[in-house]
Amino acid sequence: MHLIVVGTGIVGTCCGAWLQRDGHRITFVSADAPGEACSFGNAGSLSPSACLPVGMPGMWKQVPHWLLRADGPLAIRPAYLPALLPWLWRFVRHSSRDEVVRIATAMRGLLAPIFEAYEPLLERAQAQRWVRRTGCLYVYSGADAAQRWAWGMALRRSLGVEMRDVGQDELEALEPDLKGRFRFGILAPENGSTLDPSQLVKALHAQCETDGAVTLRATVQDFENRGERITAVVTADGRRIDCDGVVVAGGAWSARLARRLGARVPLESQRGYHVTVQSNNLSLRHTVMAPEYNLMVNPMAMGLRLAGTVEFAGLAPPPNPARAAVLLDKGREMFPHLDTRRHTHWMGHRPCLPDSLPVIGPAPGPANAWLAFGHGHVGMCGGATTGREIAHLVAGRPPQVDLRPFRADRF
Ligand SMILES: Cc1cc2nc3c(=O)[nH]c(=O)nc-3n(C[C@H](O)[C@H](O)[C@H](O)COP(=O)(O)OP(=O)(O)OC[C@H]3O[C@@H](n4cnc5c(N)ncnc54)[C@H](O)[C@@H]3O)c2cc1C
Repeated sequence: MHLIVVGTGIVGTCCGAWLQRDGHRITFVSADAPGEACSFGNAGSLSPSACLPVGMPGMWKQVPHWLLRADGPLAIRPAYLPALLPWLWRFVRHSSRDEVVRIATAMRGLLAPIFEAYEPLLERAQAQRWVRRTGCLYVYSGADAAQRWAWGMALRRSLGVEMRDVGQDELEALEPDLKGRFRFGILAPENGSTLDPSQLVKALHAQCETDGAVTLRATVQDFENRGERITAVVTADGRRIDCDGVVVAGGAWSARLARRLGARVPLESQRGYHVTVQSNNLSLRHTVMAPEYNLMVNPMAMGLRLAGTVEFAGLAPPPNPARAAVLLDKGREMFPHLDTRRHTHWMGHRPCLPDSLPVIGPAPGPANAWLAFGHGHVGMCGGATTGREIAHLVAGRPPQVDLRPFRADRF
Protein backbone atom coordinates (compact mmCIF):
# COMPACT_ATOMS: atom_id res chain seq x y z
CA MET A 1 0.00 0.00 0.00
CA HIS A 2 1.03 3.61 -0.45
CA LEU A 3 0.55 5.23 2.95
CA ILE A 4 0.82 8.89 3.82
CA VAL A 5 2.17 9.64 7.29
CA VAL A 6 1.39 13.17 8.44
CA GLY A 7 4.21 14.38 10.68
CA THR A 8 7.91 13.69 11.05
CA GLY A 9 8.27 13.92 14.79
CA ILE A 10 9.32 10.83 16.71
CA VAL A 11 5.82 9.34 16.42
CA GLY A 12 5.29 9.81 12.67
CA THR A 13 8.85 8.74 11.91
CA CYS A 14 8.51 5.53 13.94
CA CYS A 15 5.13 4.82 12.30
CA GLY A 16 6.71 5.22 8.87
CA ALA A 17 9.71 3.07 9.80
CA TRP A 18 7.57 0.24 11.18
CA LEU A 19 5.14 0.39 8.25
CA GLN A 20 8.06 0.14 5.82
CA ARG A 21 9.09 -3.09 7.48
CA ASP A 22 5.77 -4.52 6.25
CA GLY A 23 6.62 -3.48 2.71
CA HIS A 24 4.42 -0.38 2.48
CA ARG A 25 5.44 2.60 0.38
CA ILE A 26 5.63 5.67 2.62
CA THR A 27 5.20 9.35 1.86
CA PHE A 28 5.78 11.64 4.83
CA VAL A 29 4.01 14.99 4.64
CA SER A 30 5.15 17.37 7.32
CA ALA A 31 5.00 21.08 8.01
CA ASP A 32 8.35 20.93 9.81
CA ALA A 33 11.61 19.19 8.98
CA PRO A 34 12.14 15.81 10.72
CA GLY A 35 12.68 16.09 14.47
CA GLU A 36 12.18 19.84 14.54
CA ALA A 37 8.84 20.30 16.34
CA CYS A 38 8.25 18.98 19.87
CA SER A 39 10.63 16.10 19.22
CA PHE A 40 13.50 18.58 18.90
CA GLY A 41 14.16 19.76 22.41
CA ASN A 42 12.64 17.37 24.91
CA ALA A 43 14.50 15.89 27.87
CA GLY A 44 15.13 12.71 25.91
CA SER A 45 14.30 10.25 28.64
CA LEU A 46 13.32 6.78 27.46
CA SER A 47 11.64 5.53 30.59
CA PRO A 48 9.66 2.34 31.04
CA SER A 49 8.97 3.85 34.49
CA ALA A 50 7.17 6.94 33.13
CA CYS A 51 3.72 5.39 33.28
CA LEU A 52 2.08 7.80 35.75
CA PRO A 53 -0.29 10.44 34.38
CA VAL A 54 0.41 14.14 34.85
CA GLY A 55 -2.70 14.56 37.00
CA MET A 56 -2.14 12.76 40.30
CA PRO A 57 -4.62 12.47 43.20
CA GLY A 58 -4.98 15.71 45.16
CA MET A 59 -2.62 17.61 42.85
CA TRP A 60 -5.26 20.20 42.01
CA LYS A 61 -5.01 21.51 45.59
CA GLN A 62 -1.47 22.73 44.86
CA VAL A 63 -2.47 24.55 41.69
CA PRO A 64 -3.35 27.97 43.22
CA HIS A 65 -0.02 28.02 45.08
CA TRP A 66 1.88 27.07 41.91
CA LEU A 67 0.14 29.73 39.85
CA LEU A 68 0.96 32.47 42.36
CA ARG A 69 4.69 31.72 42.26
CA ALA A 70 6.72 33.09 39.37
CA ASP A 71 9.01 30.06 39.65
CA GLY A 72 6.14 27.55 39.99
CA PRO A 73 6.02 24.48 37.72
CA LEU A 74 2.73 25.60 36.14
CA ALA A 75 1.69 28.79 34.33
CA ILE A 76 -1.56 29.71 32.62
CA ARG A 77 -1.80 32.83 30.50
CA PRO A 78 -4.89 34.60 31.92
CA ALA A 79 -6.43 35.31 28.50
CA TYR A 80 -6.30 31.58 27.72
CA LEU A 81 -8.03 30.40 30.90
CA PRO A 82 -11.67 30.56 29.68
CA ALA A 83 -10.86 28.36 26.66
CA LEU A 84 -8.90 25.97 28.86
CA LEU A 85 -11.44 25.45 31.66
CA PRO A 86 -13.37 22.50 30.11
CA TRP A 87 -10.07 20.69 29.48
CA LEU A 88 -8.89 21.36 33.04
CA TRP A 89 -12.16 20.04 34.43
CA ARG A 90 -11.68 16.76 32.53
CA PHE A 91 -8.05 16.64 33.66
CA VAL A 92 -9.09 16.88 37.32
CA ARG A 93 -11.71 14.15 36.86
CA HIS A 94 -9.00 11.81 35.51
CA SER A 95 -6.77 12.33 38.56
CA SER A 96 -8.70 10.22 41.08
CA ARG A 97 -6.88 7.21 42.52
CA ASP A 98 -8.92 4.73 40.49
CA GLU A 99 -8.33 6.66 37.29
CA VAL A 100 -4.61 6.98 37.96
CA VAL A 101 -4.31 3.22 38.46
CA ARG A 102 -6.22 2.60 35.21
CA ILE A 103 -4.15 5.11 33.25
CA ALA A 104 -0.81 3.93 34.67
CA THR A 105 -1.68 0.32 33.83
CA ALA A 106 -2.46 1.29 30.23
CA MET A 107 0.70 3.36 29.90
CA ARG A 108 2.87 0.67 31.40
CA GLY A 109 1.66 -1.61 28.60
CA LEU A 110 2.84 0.94 26.05
CA LEU A 111 6.12 1.84 27.75
CA ALA A 112 7.43 -1.49 29.05
CA PRO A 113 8.53 -2.55 25.51
CA ILE A 114 10.31 0.78 24.71
CA PHE A 115 13.68 -0.74 23.88
CA GLU A 116 12.28 -3.85 22.24
CA ALA A 117 10.32 -1.56 19.87
CA TYR A 118 13.21 0.84 19.18
CA GLU A 119 15.88 -1.82 18.70
CA PRO A 120 15.03 -3.00 15.14
CA LEU A 121 14.72 0.62 13.96
CA LEU A 122 18.00 1.67 15.60
CA GLU A 123 19.78 -1.33 14.19
CA ARG A 124 18.50 -0.74 10.67
CA ALA A 125 19.48 2.95 10.81
CA GLN A 126 22.80 2.24 12.60
CA ALA A 127 21.56 4.81 15.11
CA GLN A 128 22.33 2.96 18.35
CA ARG A 129 24.80 5.70 19.29
CA TRP A 130 21.90 8.07 20.03
CA VAL A 131 20.42 5.81 22.73
CA ARG A 132 21.95 4.64 26.00
CA ARG A 133 20.57 2.66 28.91
CA THR A 134 22.28 4.14 31.92
CA GLY A 135 19.28 4.36 34.27
CA CYS A 136 17.44 7.25 35.84
CA LEU A 137 17.90 8.55 39.38
CA TYR A 138 14.92 10.16 41.10
CA VAL A 139 16.53 12.35 43.76
CA TYR A 140 15.16 13.94 46.95
CA SER A 141 16.43 16.17 49.73
CA GLY A 142 15.77 13.25 52.09
CA ALA A 143 13.80 10.05 52.56
CA ASP A 144 11.02 12.08 54.30
CA ALA A 145 10.63 14.32 51.26
CA ALA A 146 10.33 11.27 49.01
CA GLN A 147 7.24 10.21 50.99
CA ARG A 148 5.18 12.83 49.10
CA TRP A 149 5.62 10.74 45.96
CA ALA A 150 5.52 7.33 47.66
CA TRP A 151 2.06 6.34 46.44
CA GLY A 152 3.04 6.85 42.80
CA MET A 153 6.32 5.00 43.29
CA ALA A 154 4.46 2.07 44.89
CA LEU A 155 2.06 2.05 41.94
CA ARG A 156 4.98 1.91 39.50
CA ARG A 157 6.50 -0.97 41.42
CA SER A 158 3.17 -2.82 41.50
CA LEU A 159 3.14 -2.59 37.68
CA GLY A 160 6.53 -4.25 37.43
CA VAL A 161 8.82 -1.22 37.20
CA GLU A 162 12.15 -1.98 38.79
CA MET A 163 13.00 0.77 41.29
CA ARG A 164 15.62 0.54 44.01
CA ASP A 165 16.05 2.83 47.03
CA VAL A 166 19.46 4.44 47.21
CA GLY A 167 20.86 5.90 50.45
CA GLN A 168 23.02 9.02 50.69
CA ASP A 169 26.42 7.32 50.46
CA GLU A 170 25.51 5.29 47.42
CA LEU A 171 23.80 8.27 45.81
CA GLU A 172 26.93 10.37 46.17
CA ALA A 173 29.06 7.53 44.85
CA LEU A 174 26.78 7.11 41.84
CA GLU A 175 26.61 10.83 41.09
CA PRO A 176 29.20 12.95 42.98
CA ASP A 177 27.66 16.11 41.45
CA LEU A 178 24.53 15.57 43.58
CA LYS A 179 26.47 15.95 46.83
CA GLY A 180 25.03 18.52 49.22
CA ARG A 181 21.43 18.95 48.05
CA PHE A 182 20.26 15.34 47.84
CA ARG A 183 20.32 12.64 50.50
CA PHE A 184 18.00 10.00 49.08
CA GLY A 185 17.36 8.54 45.67
CA ILE A 186 15.42 5.91 43.79
CA LEU A 187 17.21 4.26 40.90
CA ALA A 188 15.25 3.05 37.88
CA PRO A 189 18.01 0.93 36.31
CA GLU A 190 16.02 -0.09 33.22
CA ASN A 191 15.55 3.50 32.04
CA GLY A 192 17.53 4.98 29.23
CA SER A 193 17.72 8.22 27.31
CA THR A 194 18.75 9.70 24.02
CA LEU A 195 21.83 11.86 23.63
CA ASP A 196 19.92 14.06 21.19
CA PRO A 197 16.22 13.52 20.44
CA SER A 198 16.32 15.53 17.23
CA GLN A 199 19.31 13.62 15.86
CA LEU A 200 17.63 10.35 16.80
CA VAL A 201 14.53 11.27 14.77
CA LYS A 202 16.67 12.53 11.87
CA ALA A 203 18.67 9.28 11.80
CA LEU A 204 15.53 7.11 11.77
CA HIS A 205 13.90 9.32 9.15
CA ALA A 206 17.00 9.32 6.93
CA GLN A 207 16.93 5.52 6.98
CA CYS A 208 13.26 5.58 5.92
CA GLU A 209 14.29 7.70 2.93
CA THR A 210 17.17 5.35 2.13
CA ASP A 211 14.58 2.59 2.19
CA GLY A 212 12.42 4.44 -0.34
CA ALA A 213 10.25 6.89 1.62
CA VAL A 214 9.54 10.31 0.15
CA THR A 215 9.12 13.44 2.27
CA LEU A 216 7.12 16.54 1.32
CA ARG A 217 7.32 19.77 3.32
CA ALA A 218 3.68 20.87 3.37
CA THR A 219 0.74 21.31 5.73
CA VAL A 220 -2.08 18.81 5.30
CA GLN A 221 -5.34 20.67 5.13
CA ASP A 222 -7.92 18.03 4.29
CA PHE A 223 -8.64 14.56 2.92
CA GLU A 224 -10.50 13.29 -0.11
CA ASN A 225 -12.53 10.15 0.15
CA ARG A 226 -14.50 7.71 -1.93
CA GLY A 227 -17.17 6.07 0.18
CA GLU A 228 -15.52 4.94 3.39
CA ARG A 229 -11.98 5.19 2.11
CA ILE A 230 -9.52 8.09 2.04
CA THR A 231 -8.11 8.40 -1.47
CA ALA A 232 -5.87 11.48 -1.16
CA VAL A 233 -4.63 14.19 1.15
CA VAL A 234 -4.85 17.84 0.17
CA THR A 235 -2.20 20.30 1.30
CA ALA A 236 -2.66 23.93 2.26
CA ASP A 237 -0.88 25.01 -0.96
CA GLY A 238 -3.36 23.03 -3.04
CA ARG A 239 -1.41 19.87 -3.77
CA ARG A 240 -3.30 16.59 -3.90
CA ILE A 241 -1.46 13.36 -3.11
CA ASP A 242 -3.13 10.02 -3.85
CA CYS A 243 -2.82 7.31 -1.24
CA ASP A 244 -4.21 3.98 -0.08
CA GLY A 245 -4.33 5.08 3.52
CA VAL A 246 -3.21 7.74 5.99
CA VAL A 247 -1.70 7.89 9.46
CA VAL A 248 -2.09 11.17 11.35
CA ALA A 249 0.89 11.75 13.66
CA GLY A 250 0.76 15.53 13.80
CA GLY A 251 1.58 15.97 17.50
CA ALA A 252 -0.13 18.94 19.14
CA TRP A 253 -1.61 20.02 15.78
CA SER A 254 -3.55 16.80 15.18
CA ALA A 255 -7.02 17.70 16.49
CA ARG A 256 -8.30 19.41 13.34
CA LEU A 257 -7.21 16.56 11.08
CA ALA A 258 -8.58 13.96 13.50
CA ARG A 259 -11.91 15.75 13.40
CA ARG A 260 -11.95 15.49 9.60
CA LEU A 261 -11.58 11.73 10.19
CA GLY A 262 -14.47 11.52 12.65
CA ALA A 263 -12.67 11.90 16.00
CA ARG A 264 -13.39 14.81 18.34
CA VAL A 265 -10.47 14.89 20.76
CA PRO A 266 -9.73 17.49 23.46
CA LEU A 267 -6.08 17.93 22.50
CA GLU A 268 -4.22 20.69 24.32
CA SER A 269 -0.65 21.94 24.20
CA GLN A 270 1.27 21.73 27.45
CA ARG A 271 4.08 24.03 26.50
CA GLY A 272 7.37 22.89 27.99
CA TYR A 273 10.79 24.53 28.05
CA HIS A 274 14.40 23.52 28.13
CA VAL A 275 17.68 25.20 28.86
CA THR A 276 20.73 23.44 27.46
CA VAL A 277 23.96 24.41 29.15
CA GLN A 278 26.77 24.00 26.63
CA SER A 279 29.43 24.81 29.18
CA ASN A 280 28.45 21.69 31.11
CA ASN A 281 31.13 21.02 33.69
CA LEU A 282 29.27 18.20 35.47
CA SER A 283 29.95 14.53 34.98
CA LEU A 284 26.45 13.06 35.35
CA ARG A 285 26.05 9.50 34.16
CA HIS A 286 22.30 9.04 34.74
CA THR A 287 19.31 11.07 33.79
CA VAL A 288 18.23 12.80 37.00
CA MET A 289 14.65 13.60 37.94
CA ALA A 290 14.25 15.94 40.91
CA PRO A 291 10.53 16.04 41.80
CA GLU A 292 11.02 18.79 44.42
CA TYR A 293 12.43 21.02 41.67
CA ASN A 294 10.09 19.69 38.96
CA LEU A 295 13.17 19.33 36.83
CA MET A 296 14.52 16.64 34.56
CA VAL A 297 18.26 16.76 33.89
CA ASN A 298 19.92 14.85 31.08
CA PRO A 299 23.59 14.98 30.06
CA MET A 300 23.33 15.11 26.25
CA ALA A 301 25.69 15.28 23.31
CA MET A 302 25.36 19.06 23.03
CA GLY A 303 25.41 19.85 26.76
CA LEU A 304 23.44 19.45 29.95
CA ARG A 305 19.71 19.71 29.29
CA LEU A 306 17.40 20.97 32.04
CA ALA A 307 13.77 20.51 31.06
CA GLY A 308 10.33 20.83 32.53
CA THR A 309 7.48 23.23 33.36
CA VAL A 310 3.97 23.28 31.98
CA GLU A 311 2.52 26.41 30.45
CA PHE A 312 -0.99 26.66 29.04
CA ALA A 313 -1.25 29.38 26.42
CA GLY A 314 -2.30 27.59 23.23
CA LEU A 315 -0.34 26.98 20.05
CA ALA A 316 -0.01 30.52 18.76
CA PRO A 317 1.79 32.80 21.28
CA PRO A 318 5.57 33.01 21.19
CA PRO A 319 7.63 31.41 23.97
CA ASN A 320 8.03 33.21 27.27
CA PRO A 321 11.79 33.30 28.05
CA ALA A 322 10.98 33.83 31.76
CA ARG A 323 9.76 30.23 31.93
CA ALA A 324 13.13 29.00 30.66
CA ALA A 325 14.94 31.29 33.12
CA VAL A 326 13.13 29.48 35.94
CA LEU A 327 14.69 26.21 34.77
CA LEU A 328 18.15 27.73 34.75
CA ASP A 329 17.68 29.05 38.30
CA LYS A 330 16.58 25.62 39.46
CA GLY A 331 19.55 24.01 37.75
CA ARG A 332 21.87 26.41 39.60
CA GLU A 333 20.15 25.56 42.89
CA MET A 334 20.52 21.84 42.27
CA PHE A 335 24.13 22.10 41.12
CA PRO A 336 25.69 25.24 42.66
CA HIS A 337 28.95 24.56 40.80
CA LEU A 338 27.29 24.29 37.35
CA ASP A 339 28.92 26.63 34.85
CA THR A 340 25.94 28.21 33.08
CA ARG A 341 27.77 30.84 31.07
CA ARG A 342 26.85 29.34 27.71
CA HIS A 343 23.29 28.13 27.29
CA THR A 344 20.36 28.12 24.88
CA HIS A 345 16.65 27.84 25.55
CA TRP A 346 13.65 26.43 23.70
CA MET A 347 9.90 25.82 23.96
CA GLY A 348 7.90 22.91 22.54
CA HIS A 349 4.24 21.90 22.40
CA ARG A 350 3.55 18.64 24.22
CA PRO A 351 0.42 17.10 22.65
CA CYS A 352 -1.80 16.33 25.66
CA LEU A 353 -5.16 14.71 26.25
CA PRO A 354 -6.77 15.28 29.66
CA ASP A 355 -6.32 11.64 30.71
CA SER A 356 -2.58 11.69 29.82
CA LEU A 357 -3.16 8.82 27.38
CA PRO A 358 -2.36 9.12 23.66
CA VAL A 359 -4.72 8.30 20.82
CA ILE A 360 -3.49 5.18 19.01
CA GLY A 361 -5.83 3.32 16.73
CA PRO A 362 -8.16 3.44 13.76
CA ALA A 363 -9.96 6.69 12.99
CA PRO A 364 -13.66 6.34 13.77
CA GLY A 365 -14.70 7.41 10.25
CA PRO A 366 -12.84 6.01 7.25
CA ALA A 367 -11.67 2.40 7.05
CA ASN A 368 -8.10 3.28 5.97
CA ALA A 369 -7.08 6.05 8.38
CA TRP A 370 -5.21 5.65 11.68
CA LEU A 371 -4.43 8.09 14.47
CA ALA A 372 -1.18 8.26 16.47
CA PHE A 373 -0.80 11.40 18.55
CA GLY A 374 -1.26 12.89 22.02
CA HIS A 375 1.75 11.33 23.75
CA GLY A 376 2.11 14.31 26.08
CA HIS A 377 5.19 14.11 28.27
CA VAL A 378 6.29 10.70 26.96
CA GLY A 379 6.33 10.81 23.16
CA MET A 380 9.98 9.81 22.92
CA CYS A 381 9.24 6.89 25.25
CA GLY A 382 6.13 5.81 23.35
CA GLY A 383 7.12 6.60 19.76
CA ALA A 384 8.56 3.26 18.66
CA THR A 385 5.92 1.12 20.37
CA THR A 386 3.22 3.28 18.79
CA GLY A 387 4.76 2.77 15.35
CA ARG A 388 4.91 -0.98 15.86
CA GLU A 389 1.27 -1.12 17.00
CA ILE A 390 0.05 1.04 14.10
CA ALA A 391 1.82 -1.34 11.71
CA HIS A 392 -0.02 -4.27 13.33
CA LEU A 393 -3.37 -2.49 12.92
CA VAL A 394 -2.72 -1.59 9.30
CA ALA A 395 -1.75 -5.21 8.57
CA GLY A 396 -4.79 -6.55 10.41
CA ARG A 397 -2.59 -8.36 12.95
CA PRO A 398 -3.58 -8.41 16.62
CA PRO A 399 -1.81 -5.66 18.58
CA GLN A 400 0.88 -6.62 21.10
CA VAL A 401 -0.29 -3.90 23.49
CA ASP A 402 -3.82 -3.48 24.82
CA LEU A 403 -4.86 -0.47 22.73
CA ARG A 404 -8.40 -0.15 24.08
CA PRO A 405 -7.54 2.65 26.55
CA PHE A 406 -6.11 4.67 23.62
CA ARG A 407 -9.26 4.62 21.46
CA ALA A 408 -10.03 7.89 19.68
CA ASP A 409 -13.73 7.73 20.55
CA ARG A 410 -13.23 7.59 24.33
CA PHE A 411 -14.10 11.28 24.83
C1 LIG B 1 10.31 20.32 27.71
C2 LIG B 1 9.86 18.96 27.23
C3 LIG B 1 10.48 17.83 27.75
C4 LIG B 1 10.06 16.56 27.32
N1 LIG B 1 10.72 15.47 27.78
C5 LIG B 1 10.40 14.24 27.32
C6 LIG B 1 11.14 13.10 27.71
O1 LIG B 1 12.11 13.19 28.46
N2 LIG B 1 10.76 11.89 27.23
C7 LIG B 1 9.68 11.75 26.40
O2 LIG B 1 9.35 10.63 26.04
N3 LIG B 1 8.98 12.83 25.99
C8 LIG B 1 9.31 14.06 26.41
N4 LIG B 1 8.62 15.15 25.99
C9 LIG B 1 7.47 14.96 25.12
C10 LIG B 1 7.87 14.67 23.68
O3 LIG B 1 8.78 15.64 23.24
C11 LIG B 1 6.61 14.68 22.81
O4 LIG B 1 5.63 13.82 23.35
C12 LIG B 1 6.95 14.17 21.40
O5 LIG B 1 8.02 14.91 20.87
C13 LIG B 1 5.74 14.28 20.49
O6 LIG B 1 6.14 13.75 19.24
P1 LIG B 1 5.19 13.85 18.00
O7 LIG B 1 5.86 13.16 16.88
O8 LIG B 1 3.81 13.41 18.37
O9 LIG B 1 5.04 15.42 17.71
P2 LIG B 1 6.07 16.48 17.09
O10 LIG B 1 7.47 16.14 17.36
O11 LIG B 1 5.59 17.81 17.55
O12 LIG B 1 5.85 16.35 15.54
C14 LIG B 1 4.62 16.69 14.95
C15 LIG B 1 4.84 16.71 13.46
O13 LIG B 1 3.58 16.85 12.80
C16 LIG B 1 3.71 17.85 11.80
N5 LIG B 1 2.36 18.36 11.53
C17 LIG B 1 1.42 18.74 12.43
N6 LIG B 1 0.28 19.07 11.78
C18 LIG B 1 0.52 18.91 10.45
C19 LIG B 1 -0.26 19.10 9.29
N7 LIG B 1 -1.54 19.52 9.32
N8 LIG B 1 0.33 18.86 8.09
C20 LIG B 1 1.61 18.43 8.01
N9 LIG B 1 2.38 18.22 9.10
C21 LIG B 1 1.85 18.46 10.30
C22 LIG B 1 4.70 18.84 12.38
O14 LIG B 1 5.25 19.66 11.37
C23 LIG B 1 5.71 17.86 13.00
O15 LIG B 1 6.59 17.37 12.02
C24 LIG B 1 9.00 16.44 26.40
C25 LIG B 1 8.43 17.58 25.85
C26 LIG B 1 8.85 18.84 26.25
C27 LIG B 1 8.24 20.06 25.64
